[in-house]
Amino acid sequence: KSSISPLRRINKVINSYALTKQKEIETLQKNEAFRREFIADISHELKTPIFATQGYILTLLDGAIDDKQVRMKFLKRAAKSLDSLDVLVQDLLTLNQMESGVIKFTFTQFDLKDLILEVIDQLEHKASKRDVEIKFNYEEGKNYITTADRQKIYRVCQNLIFNAVKYNNNKGEVKVTLKTSKNSIQVDIKDDGQGIPPEDLKRIFERFYRVEKSRSKKEGGTGLGLAIVKHILEGHKSKISVSSTVGKGSIFSFSLPYVKTNSASDKEKSSTD
Ligand code: ADP
Repeated sequence: KSSISPLRRINKVINSYALTKQKEIETLQKNEAFRREFIADISHELKTPIFATQGYILTLLDGAIDDKQVRMKFLKRAAKSLDSLDVLVQDLLTLNQMESGVIKFTFTQFDLKDLILEVIDQLEHKASKRDVEIKFNYEEGKNYITTADRQKIYRVCQNLIFNAVKYNNNKGEVKVTLKTSKNSIQVDIKDDGQGIPPEDLKRIFERFYRVEKSRSKKEGGTGLGLAIVKHILEGHKSKISVSSTVGKGSIFSFSLPYVKTNSASDKEKSSTD
């Protein structure tokens, strides 16, 4: 046996060890870059409502406080800015808890149609302010029972339907449709608004990604809504899909399990058979 062989073997071990370490370092560097970028994003997002609030308060201190009407106007605006800061911090916490797997999902059985009716009822006021009509298509008398985390699915529907309202045109229409197949209920949320360009479509689920920064901010958006939607649906082993045409509108869809029951219409059908 030659004496080189053990040396070679050691070399091989060292090389493969170096390669593994190199890969670990690259992963750490990537994570570090990601973390830095995220902190930069957050800081930037937090600054907007903080600067706004600061601006209103400084103007008040500068003398605007003496005029009752101006005082009320500026205090209301400062309160609104703090509200949006609160929503942003809440959304960040939710997303962070989801990404670190801290958030627990509580699955129960409920009717998806009733949940959507509640969401629409809650958003009706915001829709009518923008002159947008929300329509809901489902089969009368049919049960749409699913097993899911009700509170979180409420959030999903709220985000998607509110987006369909926010990014719609004046006098626009939002159509929410429930369809059942053998084992699943599909929810479609369709708007006839501005649509999303293909290059942005794959990025809208990233946190803070916005197609139109100014519009989203004006509407009070945090840019975190769709990232939260994606995470919640992943927790249900479901996913969100979207198709969109610029100038025509978008459809966001997702599915949940369908738990069949004897609904009123099923009973009617069987009694007439
Ligand atoms: P935001 O709080 O800004 O609404 P989201 O995460 O909910 O954040 O959405 C990300 C971006 O995707 C929005 O800023 C908007 O540009 C785009 N978007 C979402 N839904 C729609 C829609 N229905 N029509 C057009 N653009 C949309």
